[in-house]
Amino acid sequence: MSMLRDKVRLQIPGPTPIPPRIQQAMLRPMVGHRDPEASKLVAACSQRLAPLFGTASPVLIMAASGTAALEAAVINSVQPGGSAAVVVTGAFGDRFAKILGKHGIETHRLDIPWGQACTPEALANFLKEKPQVEAVFLTFCETSTGVLNPIDRLASVVREHTDALVIADGVSAVGGVPAHADEWGVDILVTGSQKALMLPAGLAFASVSSQAWERIEANARPRFYLDFLPYRESLEKNTTPYTPAVSLLFGLEAALDMLEEEGLENVYTRHQWMMRMTRAGIRGMGLALLATDTDASPTVTAVKGDDGTAEAIRKQMKALNIRLAGGQQQLKGEIFRIGHMGYSDPLDIVTTIAALEVAAIRAGLPVQPGSGIQATEEEWIHASRVDHRPAQ
Ligand SMILES: *Cc1c(COP(=O)(O)O)cnc(C)c1O
Repeated sequence: MSMLRDKVRLQIPGPTPIPPRIQQAMLRPMVGHRDPEASKLVAACSQRLAPLFGTASPVLIMAASGTAALEAAVINSVQPGGSAAVVVTGAFGDRFAKILGKHGIETHRLDIPWGQACTPEALANFLKEKPQVEAVFLTFCETSTGVLNPIDRLASVVREHTDALVIADGVSAVGGVPAHADEWGVDILVTGSQKALMLPAGLAFASVSSQAWERIEANARPRFYLDFLPYRESLEKNTTPYTPAVSLLFGLEAALDMLEEEGLENVYTRHQWMMRMTRAGIRGMGLALLATDTDASPTVTAVKGDDGTAEAIRKQMKALNIRLAGGQQQLKGEIFRIGHMGYSDPLDIVTTIAALEVAAIRAGLPVQPGSGIQATEEEWIHASRVDHRPAQ
């Protein structure tokens, strides 16, 4: 059966599909990057991002991919000669550890089995003997395993046992999952543009607490482009220290319009239901999920498939014009991942699960047509009943 070659459905956990309205906004003619129009844009984006991070402070905006924000968080927060702790629940926690290592920072690493969240108890036991660490690095949604770590509770454990800054990678969480950086005591929360924010890659964001600013001001570690201080200074003048990625900011303005029009609570609820529909469909067709219901992320789902089945299914899905992600590092060939964040809705999940049945059958798995989709639809019907109750 022939396919429309350019109708590719991106169900990967980033980059995610770009809404036509955002695509359109990014086509606007360039403006002078120091003109009042650009200043208004920078100021508005920074302020309107704050509710997504759960902070009262303006959010820093950098022209870079998400990893730059991870590296910025490392080099701004840890003094020369200082040590840090990092919780590794998958490939992105491991990336924090690698960045710390490259900068020669003494790193205490807590490894959690991939596919599980870090529990507050595990972190408490680990930090008990490490009260001297200057920063503890956490991953909010571990995109490589589809696990959402309980950042709120982990942050309070850090406070209890150390004076360390709490730093969280929110790249595949912010905008799809509620975040309350100020309330939770997360000192630095970072994200990138190409996940739940529905934009191309190229913007990195960071919220920074006043406690973190004190440490950053006193930090002698060499840094230039990724130094947070000039970003704060420029933001006070409604600009960025280096040329802002103006076209991406036009897109960000449109993305924030969309999120505000839908309402953040509704955005988060939509992600919850997409997670539930995906998990029900996977179970319904007899496949196994990597994470438990308690640990599962609303933005990405990992499905087990050893003996080559994960890759076989992914290949069949690609032939159906749906892109899924494979496993990373130790999970390579063991899982496939379905992204459901940003410009993604319940109907996309129905499509994905229906196609997955076809793909799994083509890959030789004993899947009953309709078994997954029935479970997915039942969740969807349940969601409609819960969400569409008449107002009291
Ligand atoms: C995608 C992702 C990153 C990396 O971002 P890049 O934009 O590829 O540099 C970092 N952390 C997490 C959790 C991610 O999902």
